[in-house]
Amino acid sequence: MIEKRVVDKIKRIAGKEHVHSEPEERVCYSYDATNQSCLPDLVVFPGNAQEISEILKLANEENFPVIPRGAGSGFTGGTLPVEGGLVLVMARFNRIIEIDTENLIAFVEPGVVTGNFQKEVEKLGLFYPPDPASLKFSTLGGNVAECAGGPRAVKYGVTKDYVIGLEVVLPTGEIISTGVQTVKGVVGYDLTKLMVGSEGTLGVITRIIVKLIPQPVSKKTILAVYPELEDAARTVTGITASKITPSALEFMDHSAIVCVEDFLRIGLPVEAEAILLIEVDGDPYIVDRDAAGIKDICIRYGASRVEIAEDEESEENLWRARRAISPSLLKISPTKINEDITVPRSKIPDILRKINEIAKRSRLDIVNFGHAGDGNIHVNIMIDKRREEEVSRAYEAVKEIFQAVLAMGGTISGEHGIGVTKAPYLRMELSDLGVEVMKRIKRVFDPNNVLNPGKIFRD
Ligand SMILES: Cc1cc2nc3c(=O)[nH]c(=O)nc-3n(C[C@H](O)[C@H](O)[C@H](O)COP(=O)(O)OP(=O)(O)OC[C@H]3O[C@@H](n4cnc5c(N)ncnc54)[C@H](O)[C@@H]3O)c2cc1C
Repeated sequence: MIEKRVVDKIKRIAGKEHVHSEPEERVCYSYDATNQSCLPDLVVFPGNAQEISEILKLANEENFPVIPRGAGSGFTGGTLPVEGGLVLVMARFNRIIEIDTENLIAFVEPGVVTGNFQKEVEKLGLFYPPDPASLKFSTLGGNVAECAGGPRAVKYGVTKDYVIGLEVVLPTGEIISTGVQTVKGVVGYDLTKLMVGSEGTLGVITRIIVKLIPQPVSKKTILAVYPELEDAARTVTGITASKITPSALEFMDHSAIVCVEDFLRIGLPVEAEAILLIEVDGDPYIVDRDAAGIKDICIRYGASRVEIAEDEESEENLWRARRAISPSLLKISPTKINEDITVPRSKIPDILRKINEIAKRSRLDIVNFGHAGDGNIHVNIMIDKRREEEVSRAYEAVKEIFQAVLAMGGTISGEHGIGVTKAPYLRMELSDLGVEVMKRIKRVFDPNNVLNPGKIFRD
């Protein structure tokens, strides 16, 4: 519990209207998309970096945890106050400070919703590619903290490829600017890159500088329908090997297709074992050439039907279907264990075969979809967490899947981070020394372990 006299000090720092200890407010900020929940002692909506600095200094003096929070859409429990404390909701950091069209960069606050930022940038003919499927509600601060990726990562990379500078309040309360506003810059260690993906454990991000690129002039979306799952997986390797780089290459298996169709009713091919959703972008003649090339490859690898979306509405419907998979899965069962493994692209057929074998042997419903173009498959084990025996079977399956992924040269998380839910598996991928070095870095930044404790290193 944070004592009343400390709460009074926090009210003086942030203004009492921005500090909440009512149970209903605390419940609202107690959970994220993992569907787990831990009640914070206090919820604060800071208005500027100075207030955060003072709160963190107080946290060091009075020894209470501070947990940064964006939209709470994280899939690994990064914003859960697992040891209680104060949840710092970044919603008031909601300004796009400047879009600099001469230098192709933007200065933006972390509470801005990613999709809103993209729309503003696109009005000026510019492009900010990182597009997590949560872009309509997740924030840039959360995206930076998790190094979010999305369908376009296959061509354009992930959040870390666009963040060039940050303002960060360190866990000790000091305020630091990292990085540059220039195309290049190599002065000292790259603290910006260290912060990106640090899951709110090394500092509170209060300002972000991102680079922008010109918006592609045209694009096309292709739907390829497969009677066999493996043929869809082999197509991904075929497209990669053909040297055509699509701007998105997404995959849905049969269960994902049925679930989304049941939810949206937009005419997805429910009879298919798998579909690929592929986007190409660029100058119109390149788009036409690449779309035709990809259509040929899909057919060569066993697609029974390949359609190029005729207009913007059918295109948007397909992408809406992709974004709706995650929420619609809960129709299958009340709980999902959601992993985001990534393998070298040539191993996609092997890992899907292995996952299906594990699902059958473990008698589990596993739904697969995701960013196949970069080898990132979202593996969703659908269970009812009230059935203990089923839960333990599911966690055994997770371990087996991770072992297979690592044996194939992959990684246990492509974009969701470690947080709480993946912390027990950290040492499957990292060496003891690797973990120790990371813990030393954490200690340098946060000697009293006040910022987002209990994350990443919870063995
Ligand atoms: C339907 C759905 C689809 C999704 N699709 C994708 C996807 O395609 N790709 C992907 O990468 N992720 C995806 N996610 C996961 C999630 O949306 C991302 O991790 C996103 O980046 C989290 O942003 P948020 O604002 O919700 O952050 P939160 O969940 O609030 O926080 C996430 C982490 O960031 C930290 N944090 C937040 N703000 C700050 C800050 N200002 N300073 C320091 N730390 C901070 C928190 O402490 C926490 O550790 C999806 C989630 C959902 C629910």
